Amino acid sequence: MFTIAVGSFFLVALMLTWRVISRDTRPPTPGDAPALPVVVPSPTVDPAKKLVGIVSGHAGYDSGAVCPDGLTEAAVNQAVAQEVVDLLRLKGINAILLEEYDARLRGLSADALVSIHADSCNVAGVSGFKVARVTDSAIPAAEDALVQCLIQKYAEETGLPLHPSTITDNMTRYHAFYEVSPATPGAIIETGFLLDDRNILEGHPKMVARGITLGILCFLDGR
Ligand SMILES: [Zn+2]
Repeated sequence: MFTIAVGSFFLVALMLTWRVISRDTRPPTPGDAPALPVVVPSPTVDPAKKLVGIVSGHAGYDSGAVCPDGLTEAAVNQAVAQEVVDLLRLKGINAILLEEYDARLRGLSADALVSIHADSCNVAGVSGFKVARVTDSAIPAAEDALVQCLIQKYAEETGLPLHPSTITDNMTRYHAFYEVSPATPGAIIETGFLLDDRNILEGHPKMVARGITLGILCFLDGR
């Protein structure tokens, strides 16, 4: 009797346990509480911010070109360069504003480097901008892409014509190209001529900056 009772007790206990286990392991039904969300990192989101160096031409060094009334190229460059940095930061890019011979240029490893200059104020009858990269590039495909993006977007935004015939050694052998890491794609832009394009360069620095920023973003998006 005792044996049967104990045996029955264990049998009942075993059945109850089985029911509990079955209930807990049954597949979820639509009425169940929602499962906790599973956080899966998206492979398309780059967690590291891109780094872009912007050189404000002549800053911390000299005035660059000077107009008869005292307007300097350095002042025009500064307004544009600061705006480019602000716009890039708004786009989540780690943009740094650099002086002409900034110590941070040495060995700089960045996603792009763009130096902003403007042309002389004593040549009448010429208008337009130009963009160049270093002659002996270690990464010609990337630097050509940067130059092309800058040309396309700057022309679209400002309406200024390209003036490639006045690209000089000062552009293609620009000092900063030899200071940064050879793997940093670099370009220099002459935004226009300070005499005939003054209305745009001095009067609309935000438009000028937008053209450069869109060119940089075009390049970064294509990488
Ligand atoms: Zn200059």
